[in-house]
Amino acid sequence: MAVISNGCTMLVQGYPRGSCLVETSEGAKKMACTATLRHNPDSGHERLIKSLLVSRPEDYLSIYQSGCNHTCLKCHSHEFSKVVTGKWMSASDIANVVSEYLDYVTVFEPKEAATSWHAHRLCNHCGMCVTMGKRPPKCPEKLSPEQIVLSPQGFGPARNIIAFTGGDVLCRPEFYIEAAEKIKEVSNDFHVLLETNGYGLTPKNLEAYSEGGIDAFWLDIKAFTENTYRKLCGTTNQHILSSVERIINHGFTLEVLTLYIPDIVETDEHIQIAELIAETDTGIPTTLLAFFPCYKLLSPDYRPPTVQEMVKSYTAMREVGLENLRMSNFGVFVKTDQDRQYLNEALGSKTI
Ligand code: SF4
Ligand code: SF4
Repeated sequence: MAVISNGCTMLVQGYPRGSCLVETSEGAKKMACTATLRHNPDSGHERLIKSLLVSRPEDYLSIYQSGCNHTCLKCHSHEFSKVVTGKWMSASDIANVVSEYLDYVTVFEPKEAATSWHAHRLCNHCGMCVTMGKRPPKCPEKLSPEQIVLSPQGFGPARNIIAFTGGDVLCRPEFYIEAAEKIKEVSNDFHVLLETNGYGLTPKNLEAYSEGGIDAFWLDIKAFTENTYRKLCGTTNQHILSSVERIINHGFTLEVLTLYIPDIVETDEHIQIAELIAETDTGIPTTLLAFFPCYKLLSPDYRPPTVQEMVKSYTAMREVGLENLRMSNFGVFVKTDQDRQYLNEALGSKTI
């Protein structure tokens, strides 16, 4: 079994190596692409996969990968993205799981809706239509109870989207392209979504992803200012920022995510990220997510944003022109009736 050892493909393309060291069970540190990606002469490329499940609130099959080319101080999957763990799976192994998932799918989305962002318009995941035979006032009323299924993360639909998430070695497209090919062999109705920090999205790799059947990217822009980004994630973000335009020009579906981290990534950064998105297309689905302390950014030194801070950034991003902007992680910044009232008064219950 050959491990991938023929050097860093980012260096070959003229980009710096990522922040790629991951811990192995022997205690040694290795590059993510060496420790969690390998080539098997019989079955092709294989990736270390931690788990596969229908995730909420995304409502699609999420494949959680070990090994990442970033070291994000706020990583909420560091137990497997920065530690080598999981089961080796080939593209055919993934296709076998996808084949079982096909029977489970209850909503077939068009490619334009192959995002996490679009899930919110279908269901709020309360499960009441199934468990109580009635719907709460905030149910979108788009789905029948037969389309609501129970997964380990709760009730909701199962959409025709297969997402690779958790760790990220998109700097090595070969496994993802093989997997997309096998997934499409199971059914052309599936969309393949890559959730990514964007580090691997060089012009050459995007070309390969475009030719290789990838449909969509969920791009996590963790900061705009390069120094801030480097402190937060250990790498430059320059080619990540410029990938927004390239992703759209290639015809991929794109959604962008950014995080409010008090004292690190605040409204000034969010405005610049919104301007970057708007320069390409004001309609790109975008989520402003509230940070909560985790991994190396822990309480009491770090805290979640307040409702006032989230509203300030949300409003500023809307003023830049973003048309499809959402906030998420409400439980993190809306804790009291006062918070709820503030949010309602500031943005209106429809936005919320
Ligand atoms: S994980 Fe990516 S950036 Fe890191 S060494 Fe491997 S190819 Fe290079
Ligand atoms: S469709 Fe069912 S589970 Fe979804 S929000 Fe409505 S009542 Fe709740």
